[in-house]
Amino acid sequence: MLIWTKNHVGTIWEKCQKTRKLMGIRDENSHLEELDKKHTWHPFTQMKDWLEEKPVIISEGRDCFIKDIYGRWYLDAVSSMWVNIHGHRKKEIDDAIKEQVDKISHSTLLGSSNVPAIKLAQKLVQLVNSSLVSRHSSLTKVFYSDNGSTSVEVALKMAFQYWIHKGVKGKQTFISLKNAYHGDTLGTVSVGGIETFHKVFSPLLFKTYNAPSPYCYRCELGKTCPECSFACLGEMENILKEHSNEIAAVIIEPIVQAAGGMIVAPHGYLKGVRDLCTKYNVLMIADEVATGFGRTGKMFACEHEDVTPDIMCLSKGITGGYLPLAVTIAADEIYNAFLGEFKDLKTFFHGHSYTGNPLACAAALACLDIFEKEDVLKKLQPKIKILEDWLIEMAKMSHIGDVRNKGLMAGVELVKDKNTKEPYTWQEKMGWKAAYHARENGVFLRPLGNVVVIMPPLSISIENLKQMLKVIKDAIIAVT
Ligand SMILES: *Cc1c(COP(=O)(O)O)cnc(C)c1O
Repeated sequence: MLIWTKNHVGTIWEKCQKTRKLMGIRDENSHLEELDKKHTWHPFTQMKDWLEEKPVIISEGRDCFIKDIYGRWYLDAVSSMWVNIHGHRKKEIDDAIKEQVDKISHSTLLGSSNVPAIKLAQKLVQLVNSSLVSRHSSLTKVFYSDNGSTSVEVALKMAFQYWIHKGVKGKQTFISLKNAYHGDTLGTVSVGGIETFHKVFSPLLFKTYNAPSPYCYRCELGKTCPECSFACLGEMENILKEHSNEIAAVIIEPIVQAAGGMIVAPHGYLKGVRDLCTKYNVLMIADEVATGFGRTGKMFACEHEDVTPDIMCLSKGITGGYLPLAVTIAADEIYNAFLGEFKDLKTFFHGHSYTGNPLACAAALACLDIFEKEDVLKKLQPKIKILEDWLIEMAKMSHIGDVRNKGLMAGVELVKDKNTKEPYTWQEKMGWKAAYHARENGVFLRPLGNVVVIMPPLSISIENLKQMLKVIKDAIIAVT
């Protein structure tokens, strides 16, 4: 409240101005909220619910925090949809983009090339091949696109066409996993395995062979790990034994099925998949869109089991969460199969308007430099330890059925009954209840059904990490 005194006329005038400005901001904010509800259709969102809620509208970010239009700060515990790895307003990336803007913001890779795209491709190839043990051939060919789904579409089409060029007939479908998520375009939905998202589109999809998900907590084969000796791999092998002549590739999210609920495969599973692909002569596509760039504690998830895929998809973290960009990296062997005379039509007929966008590539180059400059992976290890210790404690709670993580990528599965593993019904929105509670206390979460997802920027400080975990724990206690 303002109190008028003669001596403070000047100050009061300023305060009045400020108040007026604040009131203006308040008007502007409600206007923004109205406009959002009027014109914005949000992804994976029941808009009827949204229209009844007060939306969080973000206007600013710094480090691992985001600020809404009312000036409230939240810890960004899901890295703005898993993409932000070095924090917001990272100076090096900000500068790289500004510098590139002063040169050129976009030119096309269809019929020309550009400087950042060339440099980034080289850097990625170096990085991938220094991280992964090369098997039959090395991953040296980088195909650009602009999001995770497109990087997978590209991989599927490459694998399909590869066999045609090799003169092998009939390899026209894929093995995909239950609970898999590879994107939202129709090709990627075809290899997806999440009923809720994918079932309605089934008339539009191509058929694939479905292998079990390595979801040990709820094993669809009713087995227990490790006594099962990878029965799920056995199922995959059965499909291959019978149908490998129809299968172009196995597509898999290495180590962690992310959107399926942060499902972490038991150690040895991924290597088993690689061995089956080799044995039955099908390609292996590793979709590292979520797991790539340090998220699992190593640069790429495939490193955990010394696996080299034939095709690798990368996106999310690639630009540090700044700009949309993706790559599909293919082995020489695959690229070479597309070489031929112009008239042979062996060309890979695929490309997007913004393929190899120079701004995004410049951001990605800066993002990758930071890994070296700041020794990101080494600094990550104590944070992973803190997260894992916390998860072990959380697992004791009566409504937590399972906790799982690989690196700084974790899921806490809430259950109605710990003994029977009975889940909360989806209508109970238990994950969301926890998320809203945490939000009230300054931590921004987005759950996957009953799974509370924990995916803060890799750069989060130990102090902030501990604070975040405390808020999440309180939220889970409060709602269960
Ligand atoms: C997010 C994700 C995708 C899709 O990426 P978009 O950029 O959202 O299209 C594909 N694969 C995996 C494993 C993902 O997590």
